[in-house]
Amino acid sequence: LLTAPIEIEGYRLGVGASVGIALAPAHATTSSGLLRCADVAMYAAKRTGSSYATYDATQDPYSTERLALLSELGGAVRGGELRVHYQPRVRLADGAVRGFEALVRWSHPRHGLLPPARFVPLAELSDVIQPLTLWVLDEALRQQRAWRDLGRELAVSVNLSARHLMDDGCAARIAELLARTGAQPSALELEITESAIIADPERASATVERIRALGVRVAIDDFGTGFSSLSHLKRLPLNALKIDVSFVRQMLGSPADRVIVESTIHLAHDLGLAVVAEGIEDEATLAALRAHGCDEGQGYFVGRPMTAGDASAWLGVGGR
Ligand code: C2E
Ligand code: MG
Ligand code: MG
Repeated sequence: LLTAPIEIEGYRLGVGASVGIALAPAHATTSSGLLRCADVAMYAAKRTGSSYATYDATQDPYSTERLALLSELGGAVRGGELRVHYQPRVRLADGAVRGFEALVRWSHPRHGLLPPARFVPLAELSDVIQPLTLWVLDEALRQQRAWRDLGRELAVSVNLSARHLMDDGCAARIAELLARTGAQPSALELEITESAIIADPERASATVERIRALGVRVAIDDFGTGFSSLSHLKRLPLNALKIDVSFVRQMLGSPADRVIVESTIHLAHDLGLAVVAEGIEDEATLAALRAHGCDEGQGYFVGRPMTAGDASAWLGVGGR
């Protein structure tokens, strides 16, 4: 009924509608609470382009549980409750370890070890993302330095949020951390997502240029899941492109995913970029990626994200 065109003064107007669903008493028990939940669900439906969505507290930026976590997060960063886990990244041709991706976790006193999906999006809604990222960078660079002191030249990759690319002082803070930790700029790779670029391509590319001028590498993370145009990517001084887990994981069973992965490898190489596949969960996938010329890979089959101590043991070196 809603999508039927409406005729007004000779024009046929198309109207779209998205429906948000909230249930009592599961989601709220007051009329205003239910309407608020339905509103959140409606925006989720619009975002995903589906015609309706049911309220999901984990997707609600303003649920009381999430607001409580957000209020604790600043103290957690200062109080040393964050942890960095390291996931190995290898060269597919010969299996040589190239480095590790630093992935943050929150060792919460009541909720246990929280994955980044539970708190990074919250941090991004507030200014906490700034100290959070600087803390992860500092930790990862000191770890890089520690491995170097043990004779292992390894790179570390750190995820940046969209907010950082909009911040003109971002590169200067990274330079300061590099100097303070004594880590090699060339051993640091920063991962940015496509969504971080489309918001303000001019400003994002100015920040990326400044970061690259430090000698730090820059990669596009989760490639294929955003909506960035290739013309934006072409203009950025990038080093690498990471193919998202969602395409790699089932590439052997899904012809469509396979085509996406193979074309992305060619596209990246034609643009002069290295390609890293994320989410390699078995040997057959690794072999297929290697056969298609993918440069590097990361995934549970190679190694899960682990503590610095476990990563050192995995490498066969001592250390912290
Ligand atoms: P990402 O940067 O794309 O990281 C890869 C995610 O895929 C990690 O999840 C990793 O554990 C997971 N993964 C790795 N191998 C496999 C595999 O073989 N199969 C499957 N199914 N998954 C695999 P994690 O650690 O939960 O991180 C999720 C996301 O959180 C990251 O995605 C990144 O976007 C964000 N994140 C993590 N740490 C930070 C951080 O310090 N700062 C910011 N801004 N974001 C972070
Ligand atoms: Mg990443
Ligand atoms: Mg990714």
